[in-house]
Amino acid sequence: MRNNFFFAILIATTGLTGIVAPISAEPPVLGYTDTPMLPSGKWHVHDPDRTKPAVVTSGATFSQGSAAPSDATVLFDGTDLSKWEGDKGPAQWVIHEDYMEVKPGSGFIHTKEKFGDFQLHLEFAEPIKVIGSSQERGNSGVFLQGIYEIQVLDCYNNPTYPDGQCGAVYGESPPLVNACKKPGQWQTYDIFFEAARWNENHEFVRPASVTVIQNGLLIHNHQAILGPTAHRRLDKYDKELPVTGPLALQDHGNTVRFRNIWIRNIQEEEKP
Ligand code: MG
Repeated sequence: MRNNFFFAILIATTGLTGIVAPISAEPPVLGYTDTPMLPSGKWHVHDPDRTKPAVVTSGATFSQGSAAPSDATVLFDGTDLSKWEGDKGPAQWVIHEDYMEVKPGSGFIHTKEKFGDFQLHLEFAEPIKVIGSSQERGNSGVFLQGIYEIQVLDCYNNPTYPDGQCGAVYGESPPLVNACKKPGQWQTYDIFFEAARWNENHEFVRPASVTVIQNGLLIHNHQAILGPTAHRRLDKYDKELPVTGPLALQDHGNTVRFRNIWIRNIQEEEKP
C-alpha cells in the first residue's frame, strides 16, 4: 500500500507512466547464493561474486548485416513472421522497417521448423530508452532447441550476475568477455551448436555444446552446456531429449529487436 502510494505520487509529480522498474523501491537483484552449486564447486547458479567478464569493445568493421549463405534457411528477412509461431497461435511480435520487436506479454515465439546441430546468425538491438536494471533491462533470449538460453540483455553499464549477463549460457556459463554495444545499436550473434547425444541404447553420450561470437568477439569456445537452462535451478540430462528442437526467442517484457536471422544445418560426418 505504501509503495503504491509512493508510486502514485511519483506519477502525479513527474507525469511518467509505465516505467515501474526504475522507480521501484526494491534494489535490483544482483545474484543469488541460495542456489545449487555448479560442478566446478566454486560458484552457485547466478552467483553475484563470480568473476565478471572484462568489457571489450569490438572493432568498427566487424561483420554486420551478414547476408545468408546459399544453403541457409532464412528464418527472418525483415518482411514477415511466416517461419514463426507463438505458444498459442500465430506469432504476435511486431514488424517495423526491417526488424521484429518483442510485443510484451504476447509470449515467446519459436520456429515451426526444428533443428539439430546448426550454425545460426542473428542480430539484435536493445531498447534505446533505458528502463530497469539487472535482469529487467532489455531482457530477451535465444533458446537453442527451445531449451538452452543464450541470454540477451542490455549489459552496457548494467551490473547483474555474470551467468545471467548478455551472452551467458543462462545460469551456467558467463561469456568470456562483455562484448555489448550501446542500447539501440545493432549487435550480432553467430552461434555454432551441437545437440546433446544419446546412443541407440538410449544411454547418454555427451552434452550439448556451443560456440558463440558476439560482435566479432568469441564469447564461448565449444562450451559444454550442463543441461536445459533455468532460473535458480541446475537441470541435468536426466532424460533423453529430442534430437531436434525449434529456435525460440524470449518475451521477457522488454521491447528488444531482432533482424536478419538465418540458420544452416550441420551434418555430422559419417563414421568410417
Ligand atoms: Mg532472457
